[in-house]
Amino acid sequence: MLKEYKLSTERQNFYNVTSYVRETLAESGIKDGICTVFCPHTTAGITINENADPDVVHDMLLGLDRAFPDRPAFRHIEGNSSAHLKASCVGSSASVIIRNGQLLLGTWQGIYFCEFDGPRTRKFYVKVM
Ligand code: ZN
Repeated sequence: MLKEYKLSTERQNFYNVTSYVRETLAESGIKDGICTVFCPHTTAGITINENADPDVVHDMLLGLDRAFPDRPAFRHIEGNSSAHLKASCVGSSASVIIRNGQLLLGTWQGIYFCEFDGPRTRKFYVKVM
C-alpha cells in the first residue's frame, strides 16, 4: 500500500509524521513487514529521532545550522545550498520494521519530516509492504 501526504511547512522545522505512518499501516492491514517513509524533495528529508522532548528538535536544528552555515563561496544560484547539505545529511527516507501490526519504533522515537527551505507545500510517501 502506498499513500501520499501533503504538508504545509515553515522556513525550517521538523514535523512529527508518525501518526500519518501509523494511519497508513492500520489501513493496510499488514501485520509483519516493512514501512518506508520517503521524501521526494532535495531540500527536505526524513529522519527518526526523539519525540518526547521538543527541545531535541530545537537543538538538532541549531546543530545543523552550525554544521552547514550559508557560505558566500557557495555557487548554486538558487542560494539554498545549506538546505541541500542538511537534506543530504538527514537523508530522504526512513524504514521501520512492522511487527504484530505495529511500528517497531523505540519508546522515544518518532518519524520526522525535516524542512530546510520553506515555507512550502511539501509531500511525502508512506509505503507499507
Ligand atoms: Zn537549490
